[in-house]
Amino acid sequence: MFAQTQLRKRCTNWLLATGLLLMLTSCAEPPSAVERIKEEGVLRVITRNSPSTYFQDRNGEAGFEYELVKRFATHLGVELQIETADNIEEIFARLNRPGGPALAAAGLVASEGRQGIARFTDSYLDVTTQVVYRRGERRPTQPQDMVGKRILVLKGSSQAEKLKALQTELPDLRYEESDAVEVVDLLRMVDEGLVDLTLVESNELALNQVYFTNARVAFDLGEQNSLAWILGKDEEDDTLLEAANAFLAEAKENGTLQRLRERYYGHVDVLGYVGAYAFAKHLQERLPRYEKIFRETAKVHGVDWRLLAAIGYQESHWQPDAVSKTGVRGLMMLTLNTAKAMGVTNRVDPVQSIQGGGKYIALVHSNLPDSIKEPDRTWFALAAYNVGGGHLEDARKLAEAEGLDPNKWLDVKQMLPRLSQKQWYSKTRYGYARGGEPVHFVANIRRYYDILTWVTQPQLEGQQLVQSEIHTPGINSTDLGESLPPL
Ligand code: GLU
Repeated sequence: MFAQTQLRKRCTNWLLATGLLLMLTSCAEPPSAVERIKEEGVLRVITRNSPSTYFQDRNGEAGFEYELVKRFATHLGVELQIETADNIEEIFARLNRPGGPALAAAGLVASEGRQGIARFTDSYLDVTTQVVYRRGERRPTQPQDMVGKRILVLKGSSQAEKLKALQTELPDLRYEESDAVEVVDLLRMVDEGLVDLTLVESNELALNQVYFTNARVAFDLGEQNSLAWILGKDEEDDTLLEAANAFLAEAKENGTLQRLRERYYGHVDVLGYVGAYAFAKHLQERLPRYEKIFRETAKVHGVDWRLLAAIGYQESHWQPDAVSKTGVRGLMMLTLNTAKAMGVTNRVDPVQSIQGGGKYIALVHSNLPDSIKEPDRTWFALAAYNVGGGHLEDARKLAEAEGLDPNKWLDVKQMLPRLSQKQWYSKTRYGYARGGEPVHFVANIRRYYDILTWVTQPQLEGQQLVQSEIHTPGINSTDLGESLPPL
């Protein structure tokens, strides 16, 4: 009886939604949500435009949420259609509207308060709410310390929900919510001292830390939270929810989720506060001197100039007279042999150094086996640039012997540190290597590269709020015509 009523309700809803009244007579089995999506051939997803969710980079659409949900659409065999909302409340409103998007993939927490207004998939990322204060101010260490402070959070956010709940214990706690800002703005406002505190999720802070070097974690508020996709409150049809959960389980199982986490969040801790601060400063003070030559060299070799610039930063912090104990020198830290082979006569001449480094990375990249595909191919090229192609080959063989994939950076990077342990390197062709080094080398460069990509993306043009806080002098974000995919 109950099932029949449900079926009729679903049927009527569907008819109202589609207006196909002619189907009235043959409506014994209305299509489920998943069937409808497959029939239409489109999965409509709503999200926020932010570095953790969805944004444009040099190759088009990007972001953790975007990439994950894109794979879900492919898994369903349909096209993905992304819509962006101006604020969090709009996401929930549009999800629950007839004819609205099928789901939200928007970096949102499956919070208690939201359970009544939406349905959540299983979690795909564990995060923590962090209270953020300004460096140099007194650091709050517990919720009581937030009383009397100017606090701003996103309107309708999980953080606002937490603050509201806290007010029962701390009635003097005051906070404001805004629907006109994004997480990047909140962090900038703390960074510049416009507000005292904000609350953001740990993944958002980790991605943005480098732009806001004065914004620091005061303390973690509460237990771990789960990020999940969200569906509207349609009790009758859980087919899409079930399909999404099955997909997420599979993505966990086959390593897709881990690879995406690695891509977007795996290297965010690499810099630390000191490194992030220094990078922001050097971006302003040093990069402008070499940007032109990075761009020109990159063009010659068909590589992305930001990757070359990232290598240069990792090698010497963009200092042309850098020297290391092991005799490598110059902005791109070339060995004497490499310099000679690349036609560099004076290693401390920054122009020659960048040209030599560019030529060398392009060569290393093209010498890799064809079986290594992008984006891994770029990470392998960097590792080979650092440790040498022979050692990298040894690590690939070790990976294969362990049943790992020798063409995946995530797998081979686990093997590289073994090259410094006798039990392993004694069995390899090229022997001992400081195998941990290329792993750090690649992680650092990826971090610098991501930052350079983010600050030069075309989408930031004209977005005053965002552009004003990013330290970009010298980077001409309008001049992206020449940028190419990495290598
Ligand atoms: N995750 C937050 C929420 O669920 C959005 C902003 C943030 O991650 O800091 O409302």
